[in-house]
Amino acid sequence: MNTPLRTLPIRLELIEGETVEGFTKRLAQAHQCEERDIRRIVLDHLGRNWWPVADHSVVDLIEHLADLPRGALRPNFETDGMWVRCGHRSWRPEKCSRCTRFAEPRTACLECSGGLATTTIARGGALCLTHHHWAYRAMHADVVGLADYENAELLLRSQLWKRGVALHTGELDLAAAFVRAWHEGSESPSVIDDRMARIGIPHLDTYENALLCAYPEIIRLARVLTNPRTITPILDVTTSALTQADRLLPAVAKAIGEEPNDALRTFTISAVGCAHRAMLYMYGLRSSKQVKHQRCPLNRALIAAAHRQRACLLRHANPRLLPDIAGKTGQAAPRSRVIRNWGFEPDPLALSRAGVLATAFRRPADAV
Ligand SMILES: [Zn+2]
Ligand SMILES: [Zn+2]
Repeated sequence: MNTPLRTLPIRLELIEGETVEGFTKRLAQAHQCEERDIRRIVLDHLGRNWWPVADHSVVDLIEHLADLPRGALRPNFETDGMWVRCGHRSWRPEKCSRCTRFAEPRTACLECSGGLATTTIARGGALCLTHHHWAYRAMHADVVGLADYENAELLLRSQLWKRGVALHTGELDLAAAFVRAWHEGSESPSVIDDRMARIGIPHLDTYENALLCAYPEIIRLARVLTNPRTITPILDVTTSALTQADRLLPAVAKAIGEEPNDALRTFTISAVGCAHRAMLYMYGLRSSKQVKHQRCPLNRALIAAAHRQRACLLRHANPRLLPDIAGKTGQAAPRSRVIRNWGFEPDPLALSRAGVLATAFRRPADAV
C-alpha cells in the first residue's frame, strides 16, 4: 500500500492550455530541482521504473503533487481543440470529437508563466494578448505598442483557427515566404524594416524571424490564401498558372499592405505553379489500391494531394467549385484513417524554420 503523497511546497498557477510536460518542467524549476526528480516521486509512488506516456494516473499524481484541482492538467477540447479535415463526417474543417486534435505545443508567454519556461496548446499563436509578450520557439520579444499585432493574433484565433490553421500547419510558413519575397524586392523602407530595427532582427531569413517582424502581414495574407472563395479559382488548372498568378498578385500585395513588386510576382508565379502541379497529381488519384480507374472523390483527393505534394493551399479549395476534369490516372489515395493521421510539413517554397535542414535535404514527402 502506497503512503499518501504529500504536495510540494511551492504552488504554481496553471497557465492557459499548459501541457503536462511543460508544467512538470516548471514545477521542477520552481523547486530548484530537475524534471527527473519530479518524475522519480511519481514513479516511486506508482511502483514503476519507466515513465508511462499518456497514462492518466501520472497526470493525476502531478496534479496532486502541485495541489491542482483534479482534471486541471487535462487538455480542454472545448476551448483549445483544433479544427481538422479528417473525413469522419466530411473533409471540411470541423472540430471533430473523434479526433480531438490539439495544436503542437508551443513556447508559452514568460510573463504568464512567471519567467519559467513551459509550453502550451491553447488556441492561439505567438502573441500573449494579456502581456503583449511574443514567444515562439526560442524567441521572446516585447511587442508592446506595435500596431496590428493584437488584431493579427485575434484573426488567427478566430477565422484562421476555424480553417484548421495554426503556427505549425504550414500555411503561415508559406505566407511568410511571400512576405519575405516582397521585402527582398522592395527598395523603400517599410513598417517591417522599422520593426526589424526595433527588435534587432537583421534578416527575414527564417520562419521565426519573419513571423516576429511581419506577424500582421503574414496573418492577413494567410487569411487571403486560405479563403476558399479566393483560392479555389486560382487553383483552376484549366487556366495557366501564369495567368492565375497575375490574378492572385493584387490580393497578395493588398494583404501585405504595399504595392506589388517584381520579386513578389516571381514568387507568386512559383507558388501557383507548385499548387497547379499538385492539382494535376490530385486529379489523377485513384479511389483505392484495388481500383484501376475509379477516381478518388475530389474532397478526399485534395487533402491527400496537399500532404503528398506538400501544397497546403489545396487544403483550402472548395471541391464543389473546381472543374471536374479527367486527370491521367496515377497513384492510389490512401484510406481515410491513414490520411487523418498524417502530420503537417511545410511546403517546399515555405520559409524554412531555424534549425531545420534545408527543404532539399528533407525526406521526400511520404514516398508510397
Ligand atoms: Zn475526425
Ligand atoms: Zn502572458
